[in-house]
Amino acid sequence: MRQQIRPLVAGNWKMNGLGPSLSEIALIAEGLSDHQHRLDALICPPATLLAAASAKTAGTALAIGAQDCSTETHGAYTGDVSAAMVVDSGGSAVIVGHSERRQGRGETSADVKRKAERAVEAGLQAIICIGETEQEMLDGRTEEVLLRQLQESVPAGSQAVAVVIAYEPVWAIGTGRTPSIDNIAKLHAFIRRSVIDLLGDEGRKLRLLYGGSVKADNAAEIAAIEDVNGALVGGASLKSGDFLGIIKAF
Ligand code: PEP
Repeated sequence: MRQQIRPLVAGNWKMNGLGPSLSEIALIAEGLSDHQHRLDALICPPATLLAAASAKTAGTALAIGAQDCSTETHGAYTGDVSAAMVVDSGGSAVIVGHSERRQGRGETSADVKRKAERAVEAGLQAIICIGETEQEMLDGRTEEVLLRQLQESVPAGSQAVAVVIAYEPVWAIGTGRTPSIDNIAKLHAFIRRSVIDLLGDEGRKLRLLYGGSVKADNAAEIAAIEDVNGALVGGASLKSGDFLGIIKAF
């Protein structure tokens, strides 16, 4: 039977967005009012817009989060943004371990776990990303890779209120390609079993997001999959109409 888990639809703006883009955030917040009774929604703009986006959405149901945070709490880490700084800017969540940081910036699962720990300590919800590369998928190693990333990235004793898992096949991010619905279902069921093994009963409550080329026109069939409890959306979160279409589907 499908579990009653409140969905989360999260948008990752990556390195996109300047001051004028805040108007899109305002439109998303406005459109969310028709759906906020049944799901949560989050936009993660670049760090430079965190405070302004938080001010813009004050009093609305749209949450604002960061795309990354430091493994450290404070100190001589030039360029890093700490979890407490995200909170100070009005953020309530942070994405950690996105593949663009794992692959592109050499972050290890140990780094991701430290970031998630700092986030949760600061009171943020940590959205921990996992996902296999195309070669790993072709080699038939997807489950092995996902299990290892979960074991090494998810802090012990994680609670469902504080931690969300986003499954994002690296080869599906920004490519317009997605796994088949059957494959998403199979892998989300695998991730569910794995988080129950890791966290016990709490693992039954964790939100499992799918990410990778989610658009308004494929969101409904993805949303219908058991054990998909929301989406992490890149490109289609930049325009309010596209993102609201996905919110509607969930
Ligand atoms: C992402 O960056 O997390 C992502 C899923 O991107 P896109 O939706 O553009 O594939």
